[in-house]
Amino acid sequence: MPYCMYLRKSRKDSENPSFTDEEILSRHQQLLEETAERQGLRVTAIYREIVSGDSIAGRPVMQRLLREVSAGQWDGVLVVEIERLARGDTEDQGAVAKAFQYSGTKIVTPLKTYDPGDEFDEEYFEFGLYMSRRELKTINRRLVRGRQASAKQGKYVGSVAPFGYEKAPLTGQKGFTLIPSPDAAVVQLIFRLFLSSAKMGTGDTATQLNQMGYRTRQGHYWSGSTVCKVLTNPVYMGKIKMGYRPKIKTYEDGVQKVLRPVRKFGEYTLIDGLHEPLVSEEVWQKAADKLHASTLSRTVSSRTPQNPFSGLLKCAVCGYGMKRQQNSRGGIVYCTTPNCSCKASDVTEVEALLMQALREIVDSFEEEYPQLETLADEAAAHRKKLEHTRQEISRLEKQLGNLFDLLEQGIYDRETFVSRRQRLEEQLDDLRQGEQATQEELTAAEQNQRRMAEMIPRIQEVIDGYGLLQSVVEKNLMLKSILSRIDYDKTERNVPPRLHLTLRFDG
Ligand SMILES: [Zn+2]
Repeated sequence: MPYCMYLRKSRKDSENPSFTDEEILSRHQQLLEETAERQGLRVTAIYREIVSGDSIAGRPVMQRLLREVSAGQWDGVLVVEIERLARGDTEDQGAVAKAFQYSGTKIVTPLKTYDPGDEFDEEYFEFGLYMSRRELKTINRRLVRGRQASAKQGKYVGSVAPFGYEKAPLTGQKGFTLIPSPDAAVVQLIFRLFLSSAKMGTGDTATQLNQMGYRTRQGHYWSGSTVCKVLTNPVYMGKIKMGYRPKIKTYEDGVQKVLRPVRKFGEYTLIDGLHEPLVSEEVWQKAADKLHASTLSRTVSSRTPQNPFSGLLKCAVCGYGMKRQQNSRGGIVYCTTPNCSCKASDVTEVEALLMQALREIVDSFEEEYPQLETLADEAAAHRKKLEHTRQEISRLEKQLGNLFDLLEQGIYDRETFVSRRQRLEEQLDDLRQGEQATQEELTAAEQNQRRMAEMIPRIQEVIDGYGLLQSVVEKNLMLKSILSRIDYDKTERNVPPRLHLTLRFDG
């Protein structure tokens, strides 16, 4: 991939009166050209910022450069010093740092190359553009403290109102509180149904709600777990939870996991909220006690993930995610939507079919994904076109040079010279624009081609490794490394499901 140059004078340069702006930028260009040559970098574009706005908004060339950097169009950007990219506004600095970091674009200065892909390149993150980590931590702490202070006053600090409420700004003071929404009646109904008899569980409550035609805020069917979420939220008895959920990083079977455990009742403090309760404390506590008793009577091993297809397997009939349930044969997967015609299968059967489908993809990759060849052809065509355009450019540049000779030798008079020159320069402009466009197309085609080509070995790795894994979490991660979705199609019993795989090309 190519590199580009970004030239921009700084205020410091302007203080030196012995050079014009043009001279300064030319000197910078020369310096960067030497740097590129020394390191063997192919520079295909030179951006000059003529206006010297302090913010990115005032620098149109910078805006364009950032867009291209974000799109991953450049291997790296050459600048005389890192400060030329952003100085001043922290928000701008953050935008620049993020664009480079997320796209993995290098910053090349005559003194040092900063590589965001190299995690040991601490300097990259500390090059002054980047908000220091300490600063970031301070901001986070301030946020948490601010939220806690608001919560102490009984304000609502969540970003989304809980089901049954709407967020409303407080009058005469900062912050938000909650007001009942039309769904408030459904919340009260959930408590009533759940407490209506001893036999009534969360699942039964969900079934009743669904039969009565009620849906969740997202329009889904109620399930035991969504009912449980309502029953356990103290907001409905007029309280605000205090004590945020810290993220905990753990390693399990060599895989890093970030957990954000939900605090159990009693592990957080409850504050009287400013909002109106939907149920009395007595009713809420009754429901909590009943839930507590029923969880104790169940043997719960469900805390560790058991579904290797979690987040991947979707019912082809209704489109919802499929769940796993334990049985004596190692579990089944089933669709949770009531009355859906989808039929369940054993997890082991789906795993076997999945591996078979992956093997078929590897075997027939070129037939299945003819894009790979097309992309190769496409890239080759772009490359050829680019080469041709560059030859044309150098031919015209030579002609432009010859014009001066012809003028000096008196072969051309001034008028002819001017008109010829104008024509040549117009042609050159067109060609240079064409060069840029072709370069963009080539980069995109090469990127896609690489992603495609990398897919086969990655799928092979999964086929070879999947069966060796014991941990369900690792199995799931492994599948997610190559797949973004598996559609599960089975509407008759005793036939294997048809699986339709969607490969993940973004990694
Ligand atoms: Zn379904």
